[in-house]
Amino acid sequence: MPELPEVENVRRNIVPYVLNKKIKVNILADVKLFKSPREEIEKILEGNQFSKIDRVGKYLFFRLKDSIYSLCVHLGMSGQLYAHTAPIKENHLHFVLDLEGQKLWYRDPRRFGKIFLFKTDNPKEHNLLKKVGPDALSITSEYLIKNLKKNRPIKVQLMDQAILAGVGNIYADEVLFRIKVHPETKAKTLEDSKIEELHSELITLLEDSIKAKGSSVTYAVGGENEKGSFQDKLFVYRKAGQKCKVCGTKLEKIRVNQRGTTFCPSCQKQ
Ligand SMILES: [Zn+2]
Repeated sequence: MPELPEVENVRRNIVPYVLNKKIKVNILADVKLFKSPREEIEKILEGNQFSKIDRVGKYLFFRLKDSIYSLCVHLGMSGQLYAHTAPIKENHLHFVLDLEGQKLWYRDPRRFGKIFLFKTDNPKEHNLLKKVGPDALSITSEYLIKNLKKNRPIKVQLMDQAILAGVGNIYADEVLFRIKVHPETKAKTLEDSKIEELHSELITLLEDSIKAKGSSVTYAVGGENEKGSFQDKLFVYRKAGQKCKVCGTKLEKIRVNQRGTTFCPSCQKQ
């Protein structure tokens, strides 16, 4: 599933091609993806223009010039947005906008993505945005100390989108390896100084991944079929059975709250 760095790269890739252009809607449609009535999406978008694309966590907010609404796109497990260059594969295309000669394509083989309208000045009013917390890149260490330290495993807390938005399995596993904390450690037992370290490592990790255009572990992301290279910098994610790059111990896989979790039993002692 694309996480904060991958979604941010999608945003950066498509921005140059989709802003300030008259929208002509060409919905190819898979009903499941649309969480607002399709006729309503069509009515609001048709003839309008996108003025800006913001991102909060894994959500993209397409601001509209002459509307109280914004269009929200969540890529789900396998959603891909393309602008400028058409997707190589033409199957699984669910949503296409014509933008004065440019196009915006949404492709999603597994169809867990979401597309809907929400009121720009009150995103929290929308059911699907109610539980979206502040973007992981925007939070302070004080905020994390206050909100993370609960009686749940630290990995579960990190992936709770209501606390901080944008961190999923990849970056939760990676940041816990970098600060040498076992993923099942109860968050409330972590010292404030450890949370400060977590905060600073997390920001560095996410920013480094954005610079490397994200991790293309199982999916292609980006407006120009561009693949990220940050997967080469990962220490633990999807590397169970391989040797730890730091100490040589065999990496182990466990389940934390049903999510596959890889860690080093020597570097990350419980
Ligand atoms: Zn190790």
